[in-house]
Order: sequence, then structure tokens, then C-alpha cells
Amino acid sequence: MHNRCPQCGLLFNREPGYFLGAMYISYGIALLVIFVVGLLLWVVTNLRIDRIAIWAVVLFLPLVPALTLLSRVLWIYLDHKIDPATD
Ligand SMILES: [Zn+2]
Repeated sequence: MHNRCPQCGLLFNREPGYFLGAMYISYGIALLVIFVVGLLLWVVTNLRIDRIAIWAVVLFLPLVPALTLLSRVLWIYLDHKIDPATD
């Protein structure tokens, strides 16, 4: 990941541990996605609930890198809305 945006120079990592907030966003989205995948599996298949939970998590795993990026972008937007960059 770049330290600054190559286009506009925005400093991405404003302070140590800056992206900790993105983890909360990532967690919330992950729970939602896993729930929706589990719901779809429950409607489509007649698996037991524990197997549905396991399969929902397994099917979610390939989405983790994209979700990490998305949550960081959302965190930057949220942070700069609340506390705009001055440098
Ligand atoms: Zn930029």
C-alpha cells in the first residue's frame, strides 16, 4: 500500500494503528455477508445449521482481501468526513 495517494498526495496512514477503525467496518460487513450467504444456503439446500454456518464462512473467505480494501476505503472516507486532513 502506498504511503500517499499518487494522484492527490493524501496521506493514507495518518498515525500508527490508523486502520484499526477499518477492522470494525470489516467485521460488520463480514457478519452481514456471512449471514446472507448462510440464508441463501438455507433456502437452497437442506443442510444442517452447523454445516450451513461452516459453508457460509468457507464461501466468504475468498472475499476477505476485497473486503479489507473496501473497509479501509470506507474508513478513510469516514475519518476524513469527521476529521479532514490538514497536511
Ligand atoms: Zn487521491
